[in-house]
Amino acid sequence: MLLVPCPYCGPRPEIEFAYGGEAHIARPANPSAISDEAWADFLYMRTNPKGMHAERWRHVHGCGRFFNAVRHTISDRFLATYKVGEPRPAIVEPVLAQGSASVGTAGAGGESS
Ligand SMILES: [Zn+2]
Repeated sequence: MLLVPCPYCGPRPEIEFAYGGEAHIARPANPSAISDEAWADFLYMRTNPKGMHAERWRHVHGCGRFFNAVRHTISDRFLATYKVGEPRPAIVEPVLAQGSASVGTAGAGGESS
């Protein structure tokens, strides 16, 4: 069973959570002032990385709160979870070895995209 570490409740089974899409997608301040292409990009264009991905999750069958997570899309491991409004933590890209990922240490760099 995959355990998801809710930043409010601690580790809980994955069946308690719902995926909410990519994290850190900011709504344009004045949508009527941007082009149709820019609005379409905001609505539909998302990254699809092979590796670390910042995502929004909701603890539907728990505290009900939204939070952000950095998940590795190959190993499906949650590398970090953090509250909405907090910056994405700096995480070193894990090195995959024999089908599993080891969690890197915080500090150097962070994003891979
Ligand atoms: Zn929770």
